[in-house]
Amino acid sequence: MGGTRPEKCVLCGDPCVKTHIVPRAFAHDIRQNEKHLVVGYSNRNGWTHSQSGISEYLLCGAHEKALLFSDTYGVDFARRASALSANFHEAGNLIFVPNPKPDFLGKFALSVIWRHVVSSQGKALGLSLGTHRKPIEDFIFRGMDWPYKLLLLRPSESLRKERIDIISMPSRGRFLGLNSWRFTVPGVAVVALVNNQAFPSKFEEFAASKDPSPIIDLGPLDIEQDPGSRYIFDRIKRQR
Ligand SMILES: [Zn+2]
Repeated sequence: MGGTRPEKCVLCGDPCVKTHIVPRAFAHDIRQNEKHLVVGYSNRNGWTHSQSGISEYLLCGAHEKALLFSDTYGVDFARRASALSANFHEAGNLIFVPNPKPDFLGKFALSVIWRHVVSSQGKALGLSLGTHRKPIEDFIFRGMDWPYKLLLLRPSESLRKERIDIISMPSRGRFLGLNSWRFTVPGVAVVALVNNQAFPSKFEEFAASKDPSPIIDLGPLDIEQDPGSRYIFDRIKRQR
């Protein structure tokens, strides 16, 4: 999707440049030599084509630039995770991925969620961060402390027992009984525990705030069996 007409930066009101909701490198990693990606939606039938993922005019040049380092870091981390995961075939493993700058990983994760929520698609879906929006913006753009725990999973999506790479945009749900936001890029599925609930200390060893950071492998799940994926694939197959 090419984006909407230029608007004002959602943070400062200056004229916008184009912002990718998920760093474009992930779209290129999936697309490889194919001409385009197929983009499906939870709120409409059919699909659209995209060469480099979903983008729109959200941020001015200065605020967009503030995401550059953490985006690059997130892409590099996910590629390391992909390469290391390739050796693991059994579920139940923890895969330890080098993570020398955990804050950058946190910024990458929360900024993908933030960008999706404030985008036109996020608005169309009625998404909101509520009272969590300010601490997230303070962390991403104003250098305040990292506000929420992250857990990392190996992406489970598979088709006829083969793991497949997908991008799934952030959505709200529950994980380990805790309110969370979750999205998937090739190599890693990110669960951000954006809530006011206490983080159980027994899960502390799984939190992604250290070097190396653990990725939890819960095993493959066929996209035809998983209700969330199935719903979107069924909508893709229907007439627009
Ligand atoms: Zn701005």
